[in-house]
Amino acid sequence: MKALFSARLLLAVFLAAVAGGPFFLPEFTVTLLNYIGLYALVALGLVLLTGVGGLTSFGQAAFVGVGAYTSAVLSTSAELPAWIGWAGGSPWLGLLAGLVITALVAVVLGSLTLKLSGHYLPLGTIAWGISLYFLFGTMETLGGHTGLTGIPPISLLGWELDEGREIYYLIWLFLLAAMLTTRNLLDSREGRAIRALKGGMVMAEAMGVNTSRSRMVIFVIAALLACASGWLYAHMQRFVNPTPFGLHIGIEYLFMAVVGGAGHVWGALVGAGVITVMKQWLQDLLPQLLGASGNFEVIVFGLMMVLILQRARDGIWPLLARLVPVQAARKAISASAEPLARRPMPAKGELILDARDVTRKFGGLVANNNMNLQVRAGEVLALIGPNGAGKSTMFNQISGVDTPSSGEVLFRGKSVAGHSSREIAGLGMSRTFQHVRLLPKMTVLENVAIGAHMRGSKSVLPAAWRLDRAEEARLIAEAARQIERVGLAEHMFEEAGSLALGQQRILEIARALASDPSLLLLDEPAAGLRHKEKQALGALLTRLKSEGMAILLVEHDMDFVMGLADRVVVMEFGEKIAEGLPEEVQKDPAVLEAYLGGVE
Ligand code: ADP
Ligand code: MG
Repeated sequence: MKALFSARLLLAVFLAAVAGGPFFLPEFTVTLLNYIGLYALVALGLVLLTGVGGLTSFGQAAFVGVGAYTSAVLSTSAELPAWIGWAGGSPWLGLLAGLVITALVAVVLGSLTLKLSGHYLPLGTIAWGISLYFLFGTMETLGGHTGLTGIPPISLLGWELDEGREIYYLIWLFLLAAMLTTRNLLDSREGRAIRALKGGMVMAEAMGVNTSRSRMVIFVIAALLACASGWLYAHMQRFVNPTPFGLHIGIEYLFMAVVGGAGHVWGALVGAGVITVMKQWLQDLLPQLLGASGNFEVIVFGLMMVLILQRARDGIWPLLARLVPVQAARKAISASAEPLARRPMPAKGELILDARDVTRKFGGLVANNNMNLQVRAGEVLALIGPNGAGKSTMFNQISGVDTPSSGEVLFRGKSVAGHSSREIAGLGMSRTFQHVRLLPKMTVLENVAIGAHMRGSKSVLPAAWRLDRAEEARLIAEAARQIERVGLAEHMFEEAGSLALGQQRILEIARALASDPSLLLLDEPAAGLRHKEKQALGALLTRLKSEGMAILLVEHDMDFVMGLADRVVVMEFGEKIAEGLPEEVQKDPAVLEAYLGGVE
């Protein structure tokens, strides 16, 4: 409790300093703080987009420009068209228009560039960063390279913010509100989907997360934050020209986020602060030291960047945070949260999964050849076979992670082959992965909560303003219930990456169960488990089966399989070589041959 108190105290001191600053700081420092606030707003967007979401953008400065120019044009133009003339060129109209235009531009650019992978996305952002910059410089109505002057100050309830000390409050209000809402967003259903983008896309889609939508969401939010920064800038500076919206400034924003700590909301502010102050300082100091004029600070920055990437990849904020004895607040688990709605369980014996003649070729390799298998409600079907037989490939065809070259997969009577894993997950099929796919830095609880994604609906806006808490409590309570069910309760708040591999597999089962499936696909769930843990897993699966769950299981441990499975399908070289009751299959000569390598 004491540690928590000191974190609160630090925050209170920080807020008091922000509020009181302009009363005793010199004009020059207030101006510097204004710039820091404006930059931090843009860098915050990059924290979300790049640091958390893993999408690198060099083009944010262009969105700042869209915000600045839109309001500049609307508030200085003498003859506005009638349909917006009523607002009399108010900067607030400019803000609204800027946000709308930015959102539209971001959606169009996003749908063109977000699909690009690897280096192509950053290259794409460079391309549109440059194009927008030149657009600002060449358009007649935007004043060309000289820009637009005579931009009015913003008025707030009759108060004209025409001095640095006044607009300071508006800038910092915007920044603090953005930091608060971003933090809220990250700690929500939508936030978990966003955090899964970096390194967990296949898993997230298999849990029903629409990852293209999540990418677009963070792209648009980052653009809107940049736009708001541009709007504030235009009305603080009272004139605009293209210079501050060029590509090199876009790179500097990225710098700020990375230096400050791109994975953290506070990193944006720290990065903007450090870079802005250092730049100011180096600009004055270096020419004096070196006895010559020039942009030496750029070189020093380059070196600094290399150093940071070498020494403190996560930026400055995590280092600072270590100095403060803050315990990360644990997510509360509400015992009184109303349980989530469940889908009706199918009647025992109902045919749940029917794979027909599934074939998957990888070039010349036939990984699955005319595979047939059926699983019924309340039944465990084990899929066994030597390494490389094609079991995981079969799982991928069934769960929509991959598309069969030919054949058909019926899930509860619906044809699903070729459908996305997200769609299939929505129908009630859930899976684990042979090579565990989880988000190692997130807690066990949060990882499992991703499994419940489809059972909630609250999205960005409710999350940002904490209007999603009732639903969030239900999702978290469900995740906690599943964690207890699989026996991981004591690890609830640990980072998933710190668990032993066997426990990570069990975590994946809890995550799959959190989606309320009627078919579970488990790819080698017992690998890496100790004897006791295997027994516990066996008991859990037996219980699930008795509740009517259909389970398809890949497993190497024959004792485990034989004790649990109702029926066994044996694969070798992509084909089914035997099927039947465990005791029959065990004696099958073809199976013995496959396993014992032809020993008579
Ligand atoms: P199992 O799970 O039974 O050990 P897999 O299904 O993982 O076997 O693999 C079956 C065969 O298909 C292997 O020879 C493997 O190398 C090949 N394979 C699996 N996935 C791919 C892929 N994406 N591209 C090419 N070959 C693949
Ligand atoms: Mg496998």
